[in-house]
Amino acid sequence: MMNEIYFIGGLALILVVLGIILSVLANLADNKADSAEKRIENLLPGINCGQCGYPGCQAYAKALSEGKAAANLCRPAGSDVAKQLAEITGSTKSADVDYEEQLFTPRLVAYIHENMCTGCGKCKRKCPVDAISGVLKQGHVVNPNECIGCDECIKACPEKCIELIRLEHNLSHFNWNIHSVQIKNGN
Ligand code: SF4
Ligand code: SF4
Ligand code: SF4
Repeated sequence: MMNEIYFIGGLALILVVLGIILSVLANLADNKADSAEKRIENLLPGINCGQCGYPGCQAYAKALSEGKAAANLCRPAGSDVAKQLAEITGSTKSADVDYEEQLFTPRLVAYIHENMCTGCGKCKRKCPVDAISGVLKQGHVVNPNECIGCDECIKACPEKCIELIRLEHNLSHFNWNIHSVQIKNGN
């Protein structure tokens, strides 16, 4: 009888230890996956503009960490970040994006038709780079030097008075800093 009790007790102990080992291994694997996704997310601008084709930076980071996406889809982050993302993920996938060419391609920026604007401020609250200025109940304007053409204000405007226009380059508003954007706002 005592032998049976020792045998069952020993077996239970072995199962408990095995369970602990398996759970530690599973946690280590999870943390590894998490940390890659987190590191990727930390490199992305966090403005959730959707230009990469994913609903936000987190979704793109997840797809990248799972090897499902090319590393150079985030235009606001630019080519330097794309290189770092490719290194982290070991990704050889590359979408057909030429960042140098973008320097010379006319940009699309938002333009507000002030005569239709009621000054509700919804566009301003949505702009991830704080490119829109104006006070409540007065016409708002977009600063084309700051605008990254993300479309968020257009979706937010109840009056439908914002459109994207082509901004031909000239010296006064050439986008010298296309490789990075300064995030000042966003929700
Ligand atoms: S394009 Fe870049 S900033 Fe915009 S949602 Fe995708 S990862 Fe985020
Ligand atoms: S298009 Fe995007 S970046 Fe440009 S003003 Fe609208 S919300 Fe801001
Ligand atoms: S959301 Fe439209 S109506 Fe409201 S402030 Fe912006 S441009 Fe004007």
